[in-house]
Amino acid sequence: MTATSVDSIPFLDLVAQHAPLEDELVEAFRRALRTAGFVGGPEVAAFEQEFAAFVEAPGCVGVSNGTDALMFAYLALGLKPGDEVITAANTFIATTEALTHAGGVVRLVDVDPVTATIDPALIAEAISPRTVGIVPVHLYGQPADMDPILELARKRGLWVVEDAAQAVAARYKGRPAGSMGDLATFSFYPGKNLGACGEGGAVTGGREDVLDRIRQLREHGQSRKYYHEVEGFNGRLHAIQAAFLRIKLRHLEDWTEGRRRVADRYREALSGISEVETPVEMPWAGHVHHLYVIQAERRDELQAFLAERGINTGLHYPLPLHLQNAYRHLGYGRGAFPVTERLASSLLSLPMYPELTDDQVDRVAGAIREFYDRSVGT
Ligand SMILES: *Cc1c(COP(=O)(O)O)cnc(C)c1O
Repeated sequence: MTATSVDSIPFLDLVAQHAPLEDELVEAFRRALRTAGFVGGPEVAAFEQEFAAFVEAPGCVGVSNGTDALMFAYLALGLKPGDEVITAANTFIATTEALTHAGGVVRLVDVDPVTATIDPALIAEAISPRTVGIVPVHLYGQPADMDPILELARKRGLWVVEDAAQAVAARYKGRPAGSMGDLATFSFYPGKNLGACGEGGAVTGGREDVLDRIRQLREHGQSRKYYHEVEGFNGRLHAIQAAFLRIKLRHLEDWTEGRRRVADRYREALSGISEVETPVEMPWAGHVHHLYVIQAERRDELQAFLAERGINTGLHYPLPLHLQNAYRHLGYGRGAFPVTERLASSLLSLPMYPELTDDQVDRVAGAIREFYDRSVGT
């Protein structure tokens, strides 16, 4: 995650992000050390309040990570063994893994070719008598097209959980990601737009009884100390991480602006390269560019060419869920989700973080241009 040499461009540079905050972060750690407040407590409660206000959601429960946030959300909404839940084939495995661990059954649908998020038009035909919910994933920092999803869910009596792990601070038609579904889940994995210095996650939502159930689940199913209503989990947010997150949350809007500057510059610098498609920002989306994912011809060669020049890139994601060994039993074969499969072979995530300089963006774009110019006629 750090630069390996002066000239290389990392995929993500968390060292640069934390350097100006070092004194404040160390002071927060010292406070925790001197009060021995490590798990739960006032820092967690304060972060939950501040984060709910930021997301414009009535309530927030801090938890151990984004995967547990999803699992607790599914369970708190009453998921029973065998219940089916619909989500996109193009997502990180946490979305579906948490569902299986909660006893649910994964139903995948393809994504929209322009946004790479769940195609609302395909959801209705995936609904069965066992379907209980829909999980739109706000992938790469762009909200899924929520209005048709929310309307379908309302008509069919399904719940909606937004997987907003990649989309903190994003908006859909003015509404913040995390404020639209029955519940929404966030990850504070270090590389996310709001990252802890370790692991963390949160669930936001409006129904106090459901949020209370999540508070129970994260703490061994107890309603008060040593009185257990159900079997739960050890799924709490660490006080030190909450303290770090409170400090970092105050910079999130600035960092988001930084990401937008980088995205704008990439779009301009890459325009006119016919072999490359830059990500499309929908008119309704307040995109926060967690990842800057282009679609590129001869992707693997391009990635190797960039690596030789010290430019580090990523693939999100190289193998769709339905083709993973872990999901062979679902019975989806190659060709089941053609858009997702096509994306998987052409997508390439370029370096993206707020501290990336205009010069660095230009160097990345220049190298991409050079790759295609060189290979003309070969
Ligand atoms: C990161 C991520 C998660 C899981 O979050 P963790 O905090 O790493 O457990 C879930 N869904 C998506 C889409 C993610 O990108």
